[in-house]
Order: sequence, then C-alpha cells, then structure tokens
Amino acid sequence: MMPLSQRCFRCLTVVRNRLVKIQLNTAGTRRCSTVQQGDVRVRFAPSPTGFLHLGGLRTALYNYIFAKKYGGSFVLRMEDTDQSRVVPAAAESIEDMLEWAGVPPDESPRRGGSVGPYLQSQRLDLYTQTAQQLLESGHAYYCFCSSQRLDLLKKEAFRNGQTPRYDNRCRHLRAEQVQEKLGQRVPHVVRFRLETGVEPFEDMIFGRNHHEVAQVEGDPVVIKADGFPTYHLANIVDDHYMRISHVLRGSEWLISTSKHLLMYRALGWQPPTFGHLPLLLNKDGSKLSKRQGDIFIQSFQRDGVLPEALLDITTNCGSGFNSNRIGRRIDELISEFNPTTITTHSALLDLEKLPEFNRIHLKHRIEDEQQCRLLINDLQGQIQQAYAADIQDKEVLQEDYIRRVLHFRKGHISSLQQLVSPLYSYLWVRPSVSSQQVAALTAEAQLIASLVLKIISERGEDLAVDRLSKDLKTLAKQTKATKNIDVMKLLRLALSGLQQGPSVAEMMVSLGPVEISHRLRKLLLLSGTS
Ligand code: GLU
Repeated sequence: MMPLSQRCFRCLTVVRNRLVKIQLNTAGTRRCSTVQQGDVRVRFAPSPTGFLHLGGLRTALYNYIFAKKYGGSFVLRMEDTDQSRVVPAAAESIEDMLEWAGVPPDESPRRGGSVGPYLQSQRLDLYTQTAQQLLESGHAYYCFCSSQRLDLLKKEAFRNGQTPRYDNRCRHLRAEQVQEKLGQRVPHVVRFRLETGVEPFEDMIFGRNHHEVAQVEGDPVVIKADGFPTYHLANIVDDHYMRISHVLRGSEWLISTSKHLLMYRALGWQPPTFGHLPLLLNKDGSKLSKRQGDIFIQSFQRDGVLPEALLDITTNCGSGFNSNRIGRRIDELISEFNPTTITTHSALLDLEKLPEFNRIHLKHRIEDEQQCRLLINDLQGQIQQAYAADIQDKEVLQEDYIRRVLHFRKGHISSLQQLVSPLYSYLWVRPSVSSQQVAALTAEAQLIASLVLKIISERGEDLAVDRLSKDLKTLAKQTKATKNIDVMKLLRLALSGLQQGPSVAEMMVSLGPVEISHRLRKLLLLSGTS
C-alpha cells in the first residue's frame, strides 16, 4: 500500500453521514482533520457594496447546503471595511434576500451569535490587535511610502511592460527611522511581509495548489492609512475568531489563498479548509452582468420568481450533486449534495429556462395546502390591484374560487402574475356583452344557454374538461340553425367576452358552476331582449 503522504490529495468523505473526514495531504506534510458533525462552520462574507445578485446567492447557497448537510452552522458576515464603497441599506437587503430565498443564516448581523459582531466595521479592535501582533513578531512593518512614490512605481512598471508591485522598500527601515517617522506622525500603512516557501495547499475543488506569491507580488497592505484593515487581514482574522472550518468562496479568491495561508502561519493559527467554487456565467460563457439589473435577487422577487426555482436553476447548471434534475427543493438539495462532485468547470446559467423551473415549483406550492393558502392571499391582492374597479361580484375573490383556478391552471402557468394578465382577465371580471353581439352569432342563444345550464346542473361541482367537451359537442345537435362552431363562439363570448383563449371546456372548468351559471343567466336575459 502506498504511504499516506503519496496518496490522493483530494479526499472528502462522509462516513455514515455523521462524520466529514477531510484528509489533506500536502508535499511532505500530512494534514488530516476530522470534522465532527456540528463542527462544520461556514460563512458567506459579502461586501455590502451593492445588492445581492445571483452569483452571491449561489455562493451563499453552497455554504448553506454544506452546513446543513453536516449539521453545522452557516454564518453571514458583512465585510464593510471599505467604507467608501458601502451602499446604504445593502447589508440589510442582502440579509433580507437570503431569508427570502430560504437560505437563512444561523448567525448574522441581524440574528447575532456567540462570535459576533458580524459587521467588520464593529470589529476594528481585533484587526488592530492582530496587526500589532504581526508587527511585534516581525511579520509586518510600517510603510511610509507616499502615494506619489507608489504612483511612480506603477508608471515605471507599465513603461517596462511589467505588472506593478510594491518594491518592499520600507521593509528595510531601521527601528529608529520607524520611531522617528511615527513620532513625526508621517502618514503610514502596515504591510504584511510575504515570505517565500509557501506550502502547497489542497483545495477541495481545485486540488493541489502552489503559488509563490512573494515572487509575483509586493508586500500587501493589511492596515490602511485610515486605520481600517484591508480585506486580506480582516478576512483571516474573522475566519479564525469565528471558528470557520471551511471557506467555500468564489474561485476569484483562489489566487489570494496562499497569501492568506502565509498570514495564518505567521500568526500560528490553524487555517480552515478551502474550497473555491467555479464561476457562474451566462450560457454563452460571458460574465453574468450586474448592469442589466436582471440578476439581482430583488428583481427576481419582484417578477414573481419563486425562491426555490432560483435555487434549483443555479444548482442545476453546475456540479455538486450526484445527478441533476429539475424540481428539487432545498431539503432535496441538501440530501443530494455531494461536495466531492463539484468540478472546476464554470456553471453556465440559462435564464431562459427560469419560467420552466418556476412552473414546476409553482405546481409544488399549489399542491401543498399551507403554501396554497399563501398563494391565494397573494393572488387576491394582485387581482384587486389589477381589476379593482371592474370586479362586479366579489365571488371571484373567494378562497374556494381562487383555489380551484390555481389547481386547474397549475402546470400551465409559470407565475401568479400570469393569472392577472389580460389572457386570464375573464376569470376575475365578468364580461360586458351586448345583445347585438349575441344576435350577430345566433338566434338560438336562449336555447343554447338553457341547455348548457342543464348540463352544468347535472354535472354539479364535478366538472372535467374531457366530459364537458363531449357534452358541448352533442349540444349543437339539439339546435336547429346554429352550427357547432357558432355555439362555441357564443359560449366563449358569454363566458369571457373574448374571441380567443383557452378551449371553452377549459374555461368552464376554471370558472366553476356558480360563475358559469351567473354568466349564462346573463346571456338568457340578453337574448330575451334581442
Ligand atoms: N468580501 C469578499 C467578497 O465579497 C469575500 C471573499 C471571501 O469569501 O473570502 O467577495
């Protein structure tokens, strides 16, 4: 058998669903950590510089699923140390959207928790203290370089066709020089000293990674001139003190991880396990655009997209599950999640398929009595808003009527909004039909209306499209001068005021016996006066 140190680097196994065993094996050094159920702590750490978009929701979702799968906790932390970029109300809104989407954090700025505060701007002491620790141990130093000097360095690098990097000049200041400048209150930052000899690390998704960051980057700033930490410092300090076990974040951060690992090493801290999630792109491989405004979670919410449809489509276009299938809800996403199957391939999102996902999840909701009641409330509000003045009879707003409509249209509609569109207006507004319109179609309207009323009273509540279609076909045989096609036109007119739309039988089933009788009795009256 191969010695452990040479065996597969990438190993993440779930033993009887109780134990997440993560075995990391780096060149020469074996690190094997066994995470007990409940020890898993993951975080979503957005910067509140804008509203939550689909890419962010996906990162949050994978963290949430991972936490729930292994009985752990999902933490929401706001990385708001770049105060100049903070958008007012964005932090609140991000948390609102996570709640709406059904991936609520266990600990967060709003919910609190034992390792809070969860807003970085309220943890400044911790970053200053850690920077001090790094300064004292010689892993960090004060840098007094002016912005003019840094600009010059940049320009020179560009002129020589090189990537700009800080030349680490202040590393070499003597202790007295530093004290003198500090005494003179020369503006300064704190930089972390990047050492060479970075150990390779094992990414849960990208596998073995080795990046000698000191060879390509200058020493990074960890405390800015305004005393605020940069992302790199704040991020590792918080992951450490918040006892984060697994960092699952976007692959754009893979390149920074070596830098973070050097910081962990300098501080003598055990780093978390890293897993970098592949990108989420448009189906043509282009970047998901935030400018279009259509990938913000609030836009989906406003447009009647169901959160479970959004979660389903974002997980179906990527990896991480034993197989992909449409219609999964969060509990199924959790049980079918398998982190070892996450690949490095970008996930290609086809938003044109969203209505299909919504259609399936809307059907699920209609079939769940509790959810259906909420849909009924929602629809009542939408109907009143859309047709307030035109609703003559409040019967169409009754729970039973709306429930029947929902059950009948489920599987056909992909959003509740569709039901208040002009195509379905007949469901809520009784048509205004003139006796002239009726007379233009047939002189036998009275007869037809009474025959249909008879069918309806015989069938009672038990209306089905197939049987009604047959009943209606035989009806024309009982009229003397009206052809089947005109019978249908008349019924369509009387029931909906429209000339086109769903089949007459379908319309009748949606309307139900009470509403049909009401509309046909009106036809009786109209034809009586013609
Ligand atoms: N604040 C960073 C972001 O918004 C977090 C990156 C990380 O998860 O480490 O992308």
